[in-house]
Amino acid sequence: MGASSGIGAATAKLLASQGKKVTIAARRMSRLEEIQKDYPENIFAVEADVTKKDEVQNVIDKTVEKFGRIDVLFNNAGIMPVNNLDQLAHDEWENMLNINVKGVLNGIAAALPVMKKQQSGHVISTSSVLGYEVLPGYAAYSGTKYAVRAIMEGLRQEEHQNNIKTTIIAPGSVKTELFDSINNAEVRNGLKDAMKQPGSEMMGLDPEEIAQAVAFVIDTPKNMAVNEMVIRPTGQE
Ligand code: NDP
Repeated sequence: MGASSGIGAATAKLLASQGKKVTIAARRMSRLEEIQKDYPENIFAVEADVTKKDEVQNVIDKTVEKFGRIDVLFNNAGIMPVNNLDQLAHDEWENMLNINVKGVLNGIAAALPVMKKQQSGHVISTSSVLGYEVLPGYAAYSGTKYAVRAIMEGLRQEEHQNNIKTTIIAPGSVKTELFDSINNAEVRNGLKDAMKQPGSEMMGLDPEEIAQAVAFVIDTPKNMAVNEMVIRPTGQE
């Protein structure tokens, strides 16, 4: 879920290039189709808004219909509108909570019955280093990413005996379109400019690098679950 750009798109391409069958979902169907075009055998695109439980259920149903099972669910959809709390950005908060938190719950709700029936599965969700620390301007976003970690730890405790693995992926700064979801133009442009400076590779990872981490946790042996992975660019504080 959340595979039309950035980390999700890079992960889908890497897994497909390894021969894995991948369903990609997001709202921008045209972007999904672009990705699918390069891997027609292995990538299957389904349009979905993660805030809508029926659409998420449809992704899971279509995947089971096409591939017969679901080994991995990657809850990766997210937005990051940065603002201080005194901006009272009610609409922004509601939208972000719906995508970043309810979207993860919708994914789990749709995939868990399938995984329990299979008696195997793996749920991976994208939190952030801001799921471990809070910075001014990022309080509401951090709140959603702490919530992702709490939900995933609860899922681990409840489902490990059913052979269901859980992994929290917590990236530091990654060069993606996420900054476009910042409504505050000054903050948005400042962050985007910083990512273009010489030496920025020490301050911002490429989404393909996070994809490698996701591919690694997927390929671990049956008896081994990597429950959390924090991945910072080397130069990030
Ligand atoms: P992108 O903006 O490139 O990707 C975000 C993805 O989420 C897109 O595919 C987008 O697709 C999807 N998405 C957003 N809203 C919805 C929705 N309502 N329904 C379905 N899909 C949705 O950014 P990233 O790759 O950076 O973000 C991926 C995850 O990584 C996010 O959860 C983000 O919080 C997290 N993260 C990113 C960091 C970074 O520095 N980039 C650092 C730490 C965590 P579409 O718009 O087509 O629906």
